[in-house]
Amino acid sequence: MPLSSKGRDTAEGIARVRELGLDAMELEFVRQVYVKSESSGKEICNAAKMNNVALSAHAPYFVNLNTPEKAKLEASRKRIIDCARAAHWCGAKSVVIHSAFYLGMEKEIVYERVKREYKLLRDEILNLGMGEIVLRPELMGRPTQFADIDEISKMCSELEGVLPCADFAHYQAGCSTGTSSRRSRSRKS
Ligand SMILES: [Zn+2]
Repeated sequence: MPLSSKGRDTAEGIARVRELGLDAMELEFVRQVYVKSESSGKEICNAAKMNNVALSAHAPYFVNLNTPEKAKLEASRKRIIDCARAAHWCGAKSVVIHSAFYLGMEKEIVYERVKREYKLLRDEILNLGMGEIVLRPELMGRPTQFADIDEISKMCSELEGVLPCADFAHYQAGCSTGTSSRRSRSRKS
């Protein structure tokens, strides 16, 4: 939402994005998925169409697809599906996700666990008739957070409906702290 938007209403924010000469806006569901009904989603969808502004959505931060705790994993899945549903109502095509924490586990094991979750999420999204929604694991910059550029590229080439979200600031941070798997490998050897 532009700070110069007159109101805090999402539709007003979209109109302000257009006034500023911008073409896209992210729906920030990072604390909670605040679009809770199809009708409020449709209002946002109409505002985006009227102003010719492309929308994407950012899923809540409270997600860890690598958690060993069943309840937390269920909650993570639910937050992503709720976000995808809200995005679907709003006409946003991409859902950006902070996927997981490594929790000190081997990168290869975390990769397989997270990939499995993305596959299940993708299947559920298809079952819910929201096939246009693309899940976008975000490139993270901290060594504790999945995923680095190699993991993102690999996963997106192995799964349908999953494409990368490149955060260039995170990429730079990862280069300086050595989170790329190339560096991790050479550190291990
Ligand atoms: Zn993010």
